[in-house]
Amino acid sequence: MLLKPEDIPITVLREAAGRPEIVAAVRQLYDEADRRIAAHLPVCRNRGECCRFGEFGHRLYVTALEVVYYLASADQGADAEGPLPVTQDACPHARDGVCHARPRRPLGCRVFYCDPASQHWQGPLTEEMLARLQRLHEEFQVPYFYVDWLTVLRALATQ
Ligand code: SF4
Repeated sequence: MLLKPEDIPITVLREAAGRPEIVAAVRQLYDEADRRIAAHLPVCRNRGECCRFGEFGHRLYVTALEVVYYLASADQGADAEGPLPVTQDACPHARDGVCHARPRRPLGCRVFYCDPASQHWQGPLTEEMLARLQRLHEEFQVPYFYVDWLTVLRALATQ
């Protein structure tokens, strides 16, 4: 089912963001993902072009708990002012070739590299991490969704 911004349960997500055990569990998962990604020595050359989804030709999807972590860590990074309006088919955190939400960026932002030498490990790692994220939703009883990142940002900016 295609979710719209008004379908995103922002109140539930904000409540979950206040639960330290959830934030710690997602942090742990991200730390492991970051370590495993770094071990592949991926190279980023496009300086944020992939964050302009329409032009780049792909989408970024996120689970509910990734949004919870994003909300819980809102004081990290240069965009501590809060959710930014979405004015184009691009992530508003990408400015001047830099991610201004880097410490709290979703899993897909961590895993994706257009580097041809970094293609073989991305799919398996994504599948494993998404399965583990899905189990965390069950463990912490947070309603699961997997939705376009810009839909979430639009919901956060308006609710
Ligand atoms: S959160 Fe950061 S890395 Fe992810 S799409 Fe936005 S600017 Fe790009």
